[in-house]
Amino acid sequence: MTAIIALVGRPNVGKSTLFNRLTKSRNALVADMPGLTRDRHYGVGKMGERPYLVVDTGGFEPEQREGLIAAMADQTRQAIAESDAVCFVVDAKEGISSQDEEIAQVLRRSGKPIYLVLNKMDVKGAVAEMGEFHRLGLGQPYTISAAHGHGVAPLMDAILEAL
Ligand code: GDP
Ligand code: MG
Repeated sequence: MTAIIALVGRPNVGKSTLFNRLTKSRNALVADMPGLTRDRHYGVGKMGERPYLVVDTGGFEPEQREGLIAAMADQTRQAIAESDAVCFVVDAKEGISSQDEEIAQVLRRSGKPIYLVLNKMDVKGAVAEMGEFHRLGLGQPYTISAAHGHGVAPLMDAILEAL
């Protein structure tokens, strides 16, 4: 069985950049404009001999912010439901927003294994202010740079090992 891993998070945190790195493809639309990737988008990758399927999502549309359920696109909810594990991507540079906290709440209730991923940790070995990220109640965060690749292999190892 190929593991299905969903990438979830608010716009502009780096989901599509991570998708491209995990699938070694340029299929996802990576742009500076938030919210461009609106539909589910699948790609395959491999960790050692182990194949996986990654699902990129358009995340949460910023214009629909009256409550999380309204804000969560159907596509994202379906991606979570069909996944074996979820990478909840947040922006380590920007820190946690109220939108992140709402997403975290829904993810905790999903019953899926959730991996909190602090992206944009571009300086290798840099340590984030972990306190605010622990507050999300999703355990130890994985620090990565989707742009540079740091931390991505350990994250994938952890996810695939646990399945
Ligand atoms: P998405 O909306 O969550 O899919 O985010 P994107 O992948 O489109 O990335 C949004 C912006 O963040 C783009 O300008 C990316 O180049 C940038 N970005 C993504 N990953 C990193 C990273 O690891 N470090 C830095 N500095 N920028 C990143
Ligand atoms: Mg995207």
